[in-house]
Amino acid sequence: MSNILLTAFDLAPFSKIKNSDFEPAFEQAISDAKEEIQQIIDQKEAPTFQNTLEAMAYSGMQLDRISTIFFNLNSAETNEELQEIAQKIAPKLSAFANDVSLNPKLFARVKKVHDSVDLSTLTTEKKTLLEKTYKGFVRNGALLNEEDKNKLREIDAELAVLSLKFNENVLAETNAYQLHVANEADLEGLPEGAIEAARHLASQKQLEGWVFTLDYPSYLPFVTYVKNRALRKEIVIANGKKGFQNNAYNNEKNVKKIVVLRHQRANLLGYESHAAFVLEERMAQNPTKVLEFLNDLLIKSKPAAEREFKELTAYAHQQDGIEQLEKWDANYYSEKLKQKRFQLDDEVLKPYFKLDNVLKGAFEVAKRLFGLQFKEVHTIDTYHEDVQTFEVRNDQNELVAVLYTDFFPRKGKRNGAWMTTFKSQWIKDEVNQRPHISIVCNFTPPTTTKPSLLTFNEVTTLFHEFGHALHGMLANTTYPTLSGTSVYWDFVELPSQIMENWVYEPETLALFAKHYQTGENIPQVYIDKIKESANFLEGLATVRQLSFGLLDMGWHTTLPESTESLKAFENKHFESTKVYPDVEENAMSTSFSHIFAGGYSAGYYSYKWAEVLDADAFDYFKTNGIFNKTIADKFKNEILSKGGTEHPMQLYKKFRGQEPTPNALLKRAGLVSNCGSR
Ligand SMILES: [Zn+2]
Repeated sequence: MSNILLTAFDLAPFSKIKNSDFEPAFEQAISDAKEEIQQIIDQKEAPTFQNTLEAMAYSGMQLDRISTIFFNLNSAETNEELQEIAQKIAPKLSAFANDVSLNPKLFARVKKVHDSVDLSTLTTEKKTLLEKTYKGFVRNGALLNEEDKNKLREIDAELAVLSLKFNENVLAETNAYQLHVANEADLEGLPEGAIEAARHLASQKQLEGWVFTLDYPSYLPFVTYVKNRALRKEIVIANGKKGFQNNAYNNEKNVKKIVVLRHQRANLLGYESHAAFVLEERMAQNPTKVLEFLNDLLIKSKPAAEREFKELTAYAHQQDGIEQLEKWDANYYSEKLKQKRFQLDDEVLKPYFKLDNVLKGAFEVAKRLFGLQFKEVHTIDTYHEDVQTFEVRNDQNELVAVLYTDFFPRKGKRNGAWMTTFKSQWIKDEVNQRPHISIVCNFTPPTTTKPSLLTFNEVTTLFHEFGHALHGMLANTTYPTLSGTSVYWDFVELPSQIMENWVYEPETLALFAKHYQTGENIPQVYIDKIKESANFLEGLATVRQLSFGLLDMGWHTTLPESTESLKAFENKHFESTKVYPDVEENAMSTSFSHIFAGGYSAGYYSYKWAEVLDADAFDYFKTNGIFNKTIADKFKNEILSKGGTEHPMQLYKKFRGQEPTPNALLKRAGLVSNCGSR
């Protein structure tokens, strides 16, 4: 029987794929990809850009397509069978990836080209491909002697174990805690849904009353709405103690071991610090630049944070006679003050944001900016009946991309929202292969009486993912490995976050924010409130983000003194960002999974970095008209179509005419006077 995944197809043939096709298809495609790499190594001809770098870039493409189809299904429409296949196939895929990235013969060819090619004969994209490929080997230790290579493998193995251990400890501490509330009066302030969930949790544990945990969906409503200050204090302190208690799950030693090993690893590879190693492949480039960036923003936002803290304290004093605002008061009084000031209810806004209208609005924005036309088609195969498909064409009526949308939650789909690719874009033999892009979300579904109506937050999410999708759809590069969203990590959120800005503009809202029953446009007073509330207490939020970024850079730029306690190290690095009084029995690092168990080490700054970029870029539009065609063309030609073919700072400068500055962000966030415009 033939395996559809091993045939030549363009659009993913979802309805014809059987679960049992995946494993044999993976086996075959991995074996073919290995063979392709072996042919590159075995060829008699001396290494050239074409017979080595280019050949590598176009290798393993069938494996890529099978992988994207499989892993996208495993996220959006999974079942036990697919999950089992994922478990079996993941180690085989990483073994294959290692076979390539650690292959000394392959590296020898790449190095030969790298060391001898006349760079003036290569296009920018080709130079980038060469450098990226070469660096990929070197950063894995390809230039080290055997002894150091072994050291590197040992460090990597140890780091992998430590990260796992770190996470297990955080999880164990999270699971070990529960707050049992027996007295209903202690729930005062909490919304009905959260009370319901807490009662359900209690009954699962065979307890009377209500149970709260440190899981976000349980914890966050509690600290935001519960009036009882002593209970808020209890749960906030419990949360801050994770990994920092005198028990088997303490993470202090793990943190120190991780930073020491990362430092050694970086040194071994010739870098001054782990941050220097990481940032080499980021738009921000080096630790000095990141620290300057964070500290500059801090100087500019700290006065606003201090002003807001005073304001919040005054409000808490007036409400409840509180003298000193503590960490367990932050969410509670922020929310109360916000409600008082804006009285902005999701339910009031939702009728203006019917999903169909919002999607058409996003399409209209893309039409005005980039000349794209979206036409729904019903002939394209999908993996679920909820999935819609669109042909996307440019103003010459050429096919630009295929867009899939998948909007509603269901069993088998993971939480959150994301953009993904079923087929990337590339050019080979003068044929420009157009991409197949998908947006997956979990929006409020329609009911029997109402269409899907979005919260404002969901509207910005749709525009965000649509921005990533535009990056994918407008890709126009030669090599698939440099196409679309294959860019540095602190650059990838520019195309997505910039699109959110359009949603705050009356000119855009007039296109689609109409009441689903009456057709009436959204009232201006709502738009004003949305804008104002978006900046509410932004100074405090900014300084908080900066504090995490600075702590992250602290751990990864210098090695802590061996005698220094974790708490002392933290205090030192939190000093410039401190607003709330410190809680002595708490620590941040021992449960800071983003940087000690996730991929964000020396990368936490990138959240703010991306905001600076999107605000700076949007400001350029805003100054010249939000649908200004010339600027939209530059954005398309210099950024969206270029993928990772050139250093993002170069691309950005070509678009903007200068490096980004934080001024537009500070203005948008209302952190400097003369604000007023978002
Ligand atoms: Zn994003």
